[in-house]
Amino acid sequence: MKAALLLAHGMPLVIEQIPLPPPPKGSEVVLRVDGCGICGSDVHLARGNFPYFPPSFPHIMGHEIGGYVYEVGDQVKGLAVGDPVVVWAGGGCGTCSFCISGRELNCTKEHRWAGSNIPGGYAEYVLIEHERWIVKLKPGMRPRDAAPFTDAAITGYGSVRKAIRHFDPEFPVLALGIGAIGTYGLQYLKTMSGCRIIAVDVTPEKRAAALEWGADHALNGESDMLVDEIMALSDGEGVCAALDFVGTQKTIDTALAVTRADGGIFQTGMAGGIAHVDGTNDPRHWSVDVQFSLGATLKQLREVMAMVQAGRIKPIPIDFRPLEEINEVHADMHANRTRGRIVVIP
Ligand SMILES: [Zn+2]
Ligand SMILES: [Zn+2]
Repeated sequence: MKAALLLAHGMPLVIEQIPLPPPPKGSEVVLRVDGCGICGSDVHLARGNFPYFPPSFPHIMGHEIGGYVYEVGDQVKGLAVGDPVVVWAGGGCGTCSFCISGRELNCTKEHRWAGSNIPGGYAEYVLIEHERWIVKLKPGMRPRDAAPFTDAAITGYGSVRKAIRHFDPEFPVLALGIGAIGTYGLQYLKTMSGCRIIAVDVTPEKRAAALEWGADHALNGESDMLVDEIMALSDGEGVCAALDFVGTQKTIDTALAVTRADGGIFQTGMAGGIAHVDGTNDPRHWSVDVQFSLGATLKQLREVMAMVQAGRIKPIPIDFRPLEEINEVHADMHANRTRGRIVVIP
């Protein structure tokens, strides 16, 4: 089969013919990949900037997987060959108290995440270790269209769900970075927060899109006056919650500078920014809740899929590209030149 291989961190990926995954055993399932979404974290992982998930090389990346069931193990009960599906790419040890209660993201024993430290969807076929990670689509829905739900759509949902207790309609919420995750994030903030929404992005196109997707204000992330501009829009008090979908030092510092006492900051972007909570000098930080928010649970994926299929959440535009362009796609992601989500077709 054709696959894009990462041979070492920092190297361009190479397209090669490699053997198909082994025949599935037990509850395993092999999918024919219809499309795989490209996430900002892929770019970080390829460059070695995401050391928590050390893959073994050569590695097949790709964690936003849509495909058709190709072959099932003899204990698979809920899937049949040909079913259109998407994959929830997280996975834990399977036996700890987190894993048995659907909170695999918190598992501290073992993470097995398709595309991150086990083979993923930058290939024609992928083996999924258990049928329970697979969500069946309604007939007629193309897996390549649904692939971004498994990460772009749910990651923003996971962080907005965590922010709920901080929402206060007297104060705005802040969304930093209106890429794919941020665009979904705006929709959840609009339907779930009751707050005015301030969006921030460095590109004029994404600021314009932010207003279309539900933001009330769209500010330039490169402005030297950004903190003052956000404070002015929140009566000098600050925002009740800040969702950082970028995660640079600048964006997380901005969030810390503008979030009011007892507010919440949820960092989703993996650009290496570290939240410096400074309660010595800033009394707001005595009560600000700061969390990293990575992905969302399998149940939350099912909730998002239900909201999309009911028409309450609109899918963002997708730019389909051949897998052969994977290095150009990563370069475009790194340079913030993409719109909507890119899905590669193997
Ligand atoms: Zn991702
Ligand atoms: Zn576990």
